[in-house]
This record gives sequence, structure tokens and C-alpha cells, in this order.
Amino acid sequence: MENFNIHWFRRDLRLAGNSALQWSAHKYQGRVLGIFCIDPVILARPDFSVNRFGFFLEALKALRLEFQATGGELLVIDDGPERGFTRVLSVLKEHGSLPESISWNRDYEPFALDRDLRVKSLCESRFGIQVHTERDHLLIEPHELEKKSGKDPFYRIYTPFARSWFELYCKDEVQDRIRNQSSRKPPRLSLKWSELLGRRKLGAEKLPDKLEFWRSRIAPQLTISLPPAGSRAAQRRLALFKKRALEDYATGRDFPDRDGTSRLSMDLKNGSLTIAQVIAELKLENCRFQEKSDRCSFLKQLVWREFYYHILVHFPEVERHSFNPKYEKLKWRKNDSAFRAWTEGLTGYPIVDAGMRQLKAEGWMHNRVRMIVASFLTKDLLISWRRGEEYFMKNLIDGDLASNNGGWQWAASTGSDPQPYFRVFNPKLQGERFDPEGRYVKKYVPELQSLGPRFIHEPGKRRPVNYPAPIVSHAHQKILALSLYSHLG
Ligand SMILES: Cc1cc2nc3c(=O)[nH]c(=O)nc-3n(C[C@H](O)[C@H](O)[C@H](O)COP(=O)(O)OP(=O)(O)OC[C@H]3O[C@@H](n4cnc5c(N)ncnc54)[C@H](O)[C@@H]3O)c2cc1C
Repeated sequence: MENFNIHWFRRDLRLAGNSALQWSAHKYQGRVLGIFCIDPVILARPDFSVNRFGFFLEALKALRLEFQATGGELLVIDDGPERGFTRVLSVLKEHGSLPESISWNRDYEPFALDRDLRVKSLCESRFGIQVHTERDHLLIEPHELEKKSGKDPFYRIYTPFARSWFELYCKDEVQDRIRNQSSRKPPRLSLKWSELLGRRKLGAEKLPDKLEFWRSRIAPQLTISLPPAGSRAAQRRLALFKKRALEDYATGRDFPDRDGTSRLSMDLKNGSLTIAQVIAELKLENCRFQEKSDRCSFLKQLVWREFYYHILVHFPEVERHSFNPKYEKLKWRKNDSAFRAWTEGLTGYPIVDAGMRQLKAEGWMHNRVRMIVASFLTKDLLISWRRGEEYFMKNLIDGDLASNNGGWQWAASTGSDPQPYFRVFNPKLQGERFDPEGRYVKKYVPELQSLGPRFIHEPGKRRPVNYPAPIVSHAHQKILALSLYSHLG
């Protein structure tokens, strides 16, 4: 049996420009088998989202079609990776056809780092198979950006981080990386599971493919209609954004009633698309830190994503605690009825309610509105960011630990480079500024359809009977919030 490789897919659901897959397809002339493990540990997490999982399964289905088009095969099993690899490798061992190597692209969440160490040790020590990993999910990995001077080697603030990120970005090694990772052509793959089993299909029946089982199980539980998923759909979203919104991104991105942003977060999350592909397609290679163009402003948003990964890797405690330890002592309120009103979009603050209803209806929310609703939960309702973070994770199809945690801690002023605590978003003014005609509000809060621009964001005024009065007074709650934070110094 000729040597071959198994590529373990995780958040890199595409064939083209897939770093570790590219490495293995080249080394083994296409003799690469794809594997995906549906991990019961992830399905049982408190922040599990049926809609996000449904979207992920659709991306996996699209990946399978990509495999079929090249001649290779993707095996989807529903075991955690340790058990899954033990089963797969044991079957292969029985058939005398163990792979020479196993490849994957690196993941940076604390849970994934531990898991990957265990799987590496299993493959190497128990089965004598080498593991090869590559960078794919991020363009510049957390260990590559450390401060050159000072006692604390890790950046805690976005601007110096971004300056240093852009310095490295200009270097040939990173520009070469972009070229290598942005290929649109999938590698040629040829290996099939049945070929590995040969004529003696011993134990093979123990490994039924589970993709269709999970798709049919999840479909009836979905509460939204999913957008198209997979690398082709992601490329189409990217092309549409390039044509429609990139040239006005710096301004347009702040207005939720326009289609001013890319909506690529869900694809970047699953790896149906990478930052390198986005950079190459939008021709962002020459963007520089000081520039204020629409293109650079877009790239800087992608750098926020890399910044929050950097924070998560170097300060993994943020997953459970405030980045700034002093705010661990904040006395948050429980107030379940207010929390429920917030989740249902029934706070009486139109822009907040529109955002929360958009989340429920689409599994996505505009960034400006994410900031507004997060500020409202933490500083108007005085409810812990952790509850908001978990609710977002349960509902967002782009829900991603690093950016979600970063966004929530930013809004709650407890985070790495936060909004100062004394800057409390006024939902009425935010609405008037960023949704001046009230189009966004009317789309998601039809009860307010009849109100004109003058009253649409005014909580309580000219309120129709079927829309709630404001559940709190913003002015009053702001004073309480300031006193809560300022007590801690
Ligand atoms: C409270 C809160 C929670 C958030 N939770 C998530 C989350 O779970 N997953 C997620 O991907 N983003 C999250 N964000 C960041 C941001 O809101 C989304 O990335 C963005 O709205 C996605 O829409 P888009 O792709 O159209 O963005 P675009 O404006 O088109 O931006 C392009 C890409 O840049 C990145 N990006 C943009 N803004 C940010 C940001 N502020 N922080 C980090 N990356 C950014 C995303 O990858 C995004 O796809 C959160 C922000 C806040 C304030």
C-alpha cells in the first residue's frame, strides 16, 4: 500500500487554499482521505446553537460535494476525535493500511488546544503516525506578534497590536503566505475509504457516515432559514460585497439599514473562506496602517478578529473572567424578567428591540446594533455580560468565542481595549444617528411602522398599544451604572 495522509477538517471547510490539505495533497500526490468528527462534547456545551450547527452541517455537505468533484472522499463520523481516530485507525490497522501522517490546521480556542494535544499524542504514541499542522484560520498567529520591549510581551490594546500586525503584513513572508493560501483551485484528490479496506472490509460497518443522519435530525429543529453555506456560497458573498459595498465601507458599515457590510463572519468562522482569500480577492495587499481608505478600513476589521484571537490565546482566562480583574467584583443584577424582555426584543427601546429580533429571525446582527444591545444589557439593565455572551452564542450563526467574548467585554468595559465605562450608549441617540429614517427599526419591529423619523427612536412617545413602554429609564440607569463601575476605582 502506497503512503497516504488523513486530513482532519475542523474549521477549514473548503478544499481550495486549505493550508494543511495543500501540504498533504502535494506530499502524497492526492492520496489524502478527509475526516470530520462531530464531537458530542461540543454538542453538549451550554452555548450550543442548533442554527449554527445546522449552518455548519450545510457547509460540511458543500465540502463533501467538493470532494466528490475531485474524486476524493470525506468521512463524517459522530465520535469525539480521540474515540473517532482510535476507531478509524484501528480499522485501518486491521487492514494493514495505516496512514503515514495526519494533518490539520491549527485552532486556537483553549478547548481546541487541549484536544489537539491529546489527539497528537494518541496518533504519535499509540499508532506511530506523525502529525503535521499548518496555520490557516488566522493570517498572523498569536505567537508571531509580541512586543519588542517592556516587561509584558503581549499586546493588550488594539492600536499598537494593529500597527505591529501591519508591519509584519508588509513583509514578503506574509505576502507569500497570502498568495499560497488564496488559491481558488482545489488540490486533486483521489483516495477512497474503500480502497484502504481492500477486499477484506473488516470492521468497516462500524463506521457509518453520519452527515445525512445529523442533517435530517437538525433540520426540524432549525428556527431560521439558513443562508447558503460552503466555500462557493462564501465566494459569492465576497463577490457581492466587492461589487456592492466595499467602496463605501468606512461609512456604510455603521448603518444597519444598508447592506454595507460583507456578512462573511459566518464563512470565516467555518473556514469556508479565509482572511488570505479575502485579502487576495479584494486586493488589500497594499493596505497600510495609516491609510483611511474603505479597503483599509475593511482590513482593519479583520485585524480586530485577529486581535481577539491573540487576546484569547495569551489571556485564556477571559473565557470565564473579566479581562480586567477589578471588574470581577461588579455587582450585576439578576433581573430575569428584564433579561427576557431583552431577548424577546420587548424593552421599549426600538433600536435594541430591532437588533434582538434580527438576531432571532436571522441568526445574525449588524455590528453597530450588537454594540448597542450589549451596552443596553450591561449598562442599562445592569445584567452581566456573561449572560449576553451566552445568549449570543446560542443564537448567532457566526458565534465565535474570541470575537464574541471580545465584543461583549468591550461593550461592558471589562475587556482588553474596552469602551471606557463612563461612555454609555444612549439607544435613542444611536438610533437617530445610525438609522435616521427608522428603516431598520421598522423592518424588525413592524408595530412601529406608522411612526415617522421624528418619533421612531423615541422610547415611549406616540407608542402604539401593541408595543411596550420602556422597561427602564435610560437616564436613571446610566447614573446607577456609573456609580457601580466607579466604586471599583
Ligand atoms: C457584543 C458583540 C458580539 C460579537 N460577536 C461576534 C461573534 O460571535 N462572531 C464574530 O465573528 N463577530 C462577532 N462580533 C464582531 C462583529 O459584530 C461581527 O464580526 C460582524 O458584525 C460580522 O458581520 P460582517 O461579516 O458583515 O462584518 P464586516 O463589517 O463585513 O467585517 C468583516 C469581518 O471583520 C471581522 N470583524 C468585523 N468587526 C469585528 C469586531 N468588532 N470584532 C472582531 N471581528 C470583527 C469579522 O470577521 C467580519 O466578518 C461581535 C461584536 C460585538 C459588539
